[in-house]
Amino acid sequence: MPSRSSRNSLARLGEFRLIRRLSRRFGHTRPSVLRGIGDDAALILPTQGTALLLTTDLLAEGIHFDLRVATLEDVGYKAAVVNLSDIAAMGGVPQYLLVALAVPSTGKPSEIEALYRGLMRAARAYGVVLVGGDTSASHSGWFIGITLAGAITPGLALTRDGARVGDLVYVSGTLGDSLAGLSLLRWQVGRSRTSVHRTDAAYLVLRHLRPTPRVQLGRLLAAHRLATSAIDLSDGLSGDLAHICEQSRVGAEIDAAALPLSPAARAYAAANRIDPVQLALNGGEDYELLFTVPPRQEPALKQVARRAACRLSHIGKIRSPAFGLRLNRGNGSWERLVPRGYQHFQPHQPLGTEAGHRR
Ligand code: ADP
Ligand code: MG
Repeated sequence: MPSRSSRNSLARLGEFRLIRRLSRRFGHTRPSVLRGIGDDAALILPTQGTALLLTTDLLAEGIHFDLRVATLEDVGYKAAVVNLSDIAAMGGVPQYLLVALAVPSTGKPSEIEALYRGLMRAARAYGVVLVGGDTSASHSGWFIGITLAGAITPGLALTRDGARVGDLVYVSGTLGDSLAGLSLLRWQVGRSRTSVHRTDAAYLVLRHLRPTPRVQLGRLLAAHRLATSAIDLSDGLSGDLAHICEQSRVGAEIDAAALPLSPAARAYAAANRIDPVQLALNGGEDYELLFTVPPRQEPALKQVARRAACRLSHIGKIRSPAFGLRLNRGNGSWERLVPRGYQHFQPHQPLGTEAGHRR
């Protein structure tokens, strides 16, 4: 059934013509897609000998993104990355994408195309094809729900519950860039000047708007059975590590000095008198992989880092449940590591008022 929509150019274009247009531009196919966009459901030939990975994420305007600081192309890109990152964290190969869209009455066809442009730029880089979706009008902003399907050999999936005492804790990439980038974007709305050098600011903003899903890394970790557990960093290291520890029934120590920060994030922290360790621990939306490996796998892990072209940092160790979660500040100084991930259903700070702590 066509969705109810108000009288704008989108209504004039019509739902069906819009879908046809999106399908022509973005609905490329492959032999395993027996039916893509256009029928009542997509018909897919599963990859032999693999298990199906399914993930979905809903992005709501005003909650997950802010169109004053991001374009719809940015939002589309990020929506794809959020889901690609979930498949990466399981060690799988992302394959098929479905997009559920609610468009406000002010939404234009060109904006929807921009959204799909961003979405498909991220998705196609990993061989993902668009096979369907749903379209509706919205009375309260944009909603973008992405469902991504992927494949993995049964038995190889990286889960959150396999960490063992003595395993080493590793993280990919750098931490805190995304939150720093978001804060800079919001300052640009609230005030006129940013607090760090232009090139640093540009780097941090890009890391917020266009994060990299660690798909190759996840696949290699799974294929070589290197990681005992893994999670992608959406809420922030402290909170996401707590998920692994809870589900694996273990504790962990994290070495503050080993947390990887980019030079730009360090400059941002220094300029704003923010503790870089807190930025690394509690900044969300980095979409790096946090994982655990037995010490004997370290040589193999070095090769994987090279093949995935991705920095890997050894940041801590899995300990007994009684040890809990602790941060080693160096010189014999320890702190309790309190999970401070991003929580929904908490009031958000007004734009331009935060000091680098959205969460
Ligand atoms: P139905 O009424 O059965 O839900 P639709 O008219 O919503 O059918 O969808 C027709 C076809 O277009 C389906 O194949 C569906 O997957 C696809 N489709 C609808 N909206 C989108 C969208 N926003 N992006 C991609 N494909 C879409
Ligand atoms: Mg529909």
